[in-house]
Amino acid sequence: MKLFKCQYCGQLLYFENDKCEKCGRRLGYIAGAETLSALEPEGDAWRTRAAKGKLYRFCANAQFDVCNWLIEASAPEHYCVACQHNRTVPDTSIEGNVAAWSKIEAAKHRLIYTLMKLKLPLDGREDQPEAARQRLMFDFLASLPQLGTPPVITGHDRGVITVALEEADDVERENRRTMLHEPYRTLLGHFRHEVGHYYWDVLVRDGGQLDGWRLIFGDERIDYADALQRHYAAGAPANWQDNFVSAYAAAHPWEDFAETWAHYLHIVDALEMAGAFGLYINPPLATTGELEAEVDFQPYRPPDVETLVDTWMPLSNALNSLNRTMGQPDVYPFVLSPAVIKKLGAIHDLIHGDGPAAAPAALQEVLQPLP
Ligand SMILES: [Zn+2]
Ligand SMILES: [Zn+2]
Repeated sequence: MKLFKCQYCGQLLYFENDKCEKCGRRLGYIAGAETLSALEPEGDAWRTRAAKGKLYRFCANAQFDVCNWLIEASAPEHYCVACQHNRTVPDTSIEGNVAAWSKIEAAKHRLIYTLMKLKLPLDGREDQPEAARQRLMFDFLASLPQLGTPPVITGHDRGVITVALEEADDVERENRRTMLHEPYRTLLGHFRHEVGHYYWDVLVRDGGQLDGWRLIFGDERIDYADALQRHYAAGAPANWQDNFVSAYAAAHPWEDFAETWAHYLHIVDALEMAGAFGLYINPPLATTGELEAEVDFQPYRPPDVETLVDTWMPLSNALNSLNRTMGQPDVYPFVLSPAVIKKLGAIHDLIHGDGPAAAPAALQEVLQPLP
């Protein structure tokens, strides 16, 4: 994520800001220009200070304070590019729903920022006929246990990402995290994971080359329901850390892909912010220099996955250490083993390669192992 700056007063701004803390001006995000713009009202629209002073209006979801993205004043849409993908949103007449939805939207907008910046398709494959395209959609649903219906399960199904509204409740989410023995559980993490399932469908399954991907993530044709049941009954294999980024990734190849995908997004986005702050670390106690890190490249267009990982490992180490000084849990409680880095490399090549049909370099390496 970038840092932004008020075009009137120079105040540094965060992605979610809808008002400048210093000069009080209204702010809106212009997705196409990837910028947060200070605004002046003009009729029923807003004149932007960025984007050559063009006129914009807010996404219809701004009325609930859950979106600060703009639409061109003359455009026919009611919703911004991020909110156009909402299929079901919570009933705003129910107390507490808007507050919960707002947290979900904050995470979703960060996800869409990343997907757009990586130039990933949001409406399926362009090489497929319109009717066959799997569009990315969101259902944000509240469980209604008093009506005897089963609770909402966060997940992905044929392009639709469902997020249970309860996940926005910190107590409830922490309960689930503890119950499932997870070191990390956040709304943003849910989005990054579930969207991994979406891109498995769009880029891997429909992109051909499934055989090659099976060599890296395993054969996804093994029964999914059985695999999950086994995982929850017996847990991950004892040596899961050698091959998987999380215990849950060991449950099924689809979960391995989605977990690893989520980590790729975690890493590029965190590194972009570290770069925006000019973070440079080089602990004097580490005499070999292996903990030196500086984001002197664009994490969203990195030269290769090694550059990402070599920068991220010392940086996440420093972040974890800082968190511990405040009595907080590690911000990144994960280990990247060589096997996991190889999987991250395949995802890197899938995202940055010439397209999903191109053979990922890391895949080639696995397909043609050295004697
Ligand atoms: Zn300002
Ligand atoms: Zn919106």
